[in-house]
Amino acid sequence: MTVANLTAHKNESEFVIRARRVVVPAGCAPAAVHVRGGRIVMVGEFDGTTHGRPLVEVDDAAILLPGLVDTHVHINEPGRTDWEGFTTATRAAAAGGVTTLVEMPLNSIPATTTRESLETKRAAAEGKCHVDVGFWGGVVPGNIAELPRMFAGGVFGFKCFLVPSGVDEFEHVTEADLRAAMPELARMGALLIVHAETPAPIEAALAAVEHASDDEDNSARRYETFLRSRPKAAEDEAVRLMVRLCRETGARTHIVHHSSSASLQLLRAAKAEGLPFTAETCPHYLTFAAEDVPDGATEFKCCPPVRERENRERLWDALAAGALDMIVSDHSPCPPELKRREEGDFLKAWGGIASLQLRLPAVWTEARARGHSIERVAEWVASAPARLVELDGRKGAIRAGCDADLVVFRPDEQFRVEPELLEHRHKLTPYAGRTLSGVVEATYLRGAKIYDRGAFMNEPAGALLARGEGR
Ligand SMILES: [Zn+2]
Repeated sequence: MTVANLTAHKNESEFVIRARRVVVPAGCAPAAVHVRGGRIVMVGEFDGTTHGRPLVEVDDAAILLPGLVDTHVHINEPGRTDWEGFTTATRAAAAGGVTTLVEMPLNSIPATTTRESLETKRAAAEGKCHVDVGFWGGVVPGNIAELPRMFAGGVFGFKCFLVPSGVDEFEHVTEADLRAAMPELARMGALLIVHAETPAPIEAALAAVEHASDDEDNSARRYETFLRSRPKAAEDEAVRLMVRLCRETGARTHIVHHSSSASLQLLRAAKAEGLPFTAETCPHYLTFAAEDVPDGATEFKCCPPVRERENRERLWDALAAGALDMIVSDHSPCPPELKRREEGDFLKAWGGIASLQLRLPAVWTEARARGHSIERVAEWVASAPARLVELDGRKGAIRAGCDADLVVFRPDEQFRVEPELLEHRHKLTPYAGRTLSGVVEATYLRGAKIYDRGAFMNEPAGALLARGEGR
């Protein structure tokens, strides 16, 4: 289909789309989804009347899914737009079936840690987004007075780091900072999302690794060297601290990009205790294994790290059992020079994996191999992230009243990840060359077809979202 056709489709605000397999909250069943004015007005019988509206037929080899929600995306604009940007990232999102994303407060300059910087970011995003975009604010030392101002400005919650973030303009917090900030967040009813690694175990591990490297040539090129420098203990200590602070302050707490199997028990216990405590993991922790990362392959570097095969299987078990709630991308690209791919130095390379466009097929490939259904995958990649940011009245489900954000997905079709298929600004990704199952054929945003097999609607149709619009 050509781009011109997509533009024409934008005005078709009233139609019915039906499929033999539609993922609805109750499961996967034949259904006809009635769309009017950008919303789902009814989910009816497959063979029911269309009331004279145009009918879009999805063939039997495809599944109709709710648009994906990705609550962990670094877009880096303004300030580091050479790393990524609203145009490229949201095109990648549309091509990956993602219709809603929430953008991280750091790696852009300024970082989103004041109300003014939030307005700067919204202005930078205006008119560029192909999907709906919301924003996180940041908790950094000394910005407590800004938290209610940013919250009133529409951020979905606040991110903090317990270790250095990698960029100078977003400082990490200490337990004392959190003891001051979290009661304020609890009072506001705001969500705190946490990069959960503590400094001490990493500093000790890094010193040991550097000491050992003195006698060895090229040890920084080996993945194992990096893995040893980011021990599970750093994550485990951080999760323990956050459970305690959540219990003491009552602030809703969410662990981002959880990787350590050793602290899954802490997540389970926090939930069993009834604390408002959730956690996400990412496609790379569920796909790759430390044993398989080639020497010098810094495209696999992220923090916390991809761990061993055994650890990966425990993360899958935790998803199945509900200790981990969702899978989001943590799309965090940078220019290829910063990955130091030539040198292959894992200790000096920027940590971050680019995967915004690939999340659905990456997760589906591994999930189906372990016997998980597409409904379960939709919960992890769409419904659960929508609930996290309280957008579940509008996003993440095919249900009357929700936005008509839909994905036509071919679960049995395979493709090889070629860098030129990627809409990300930079094409370096550890998924390159992998064969994945599941092709996103088309994506609808509020009833408008924004993506169709490589073609995009030429006008960005995405809206900037604010907290509170979703229920
Ligand atoms: Zn991140």
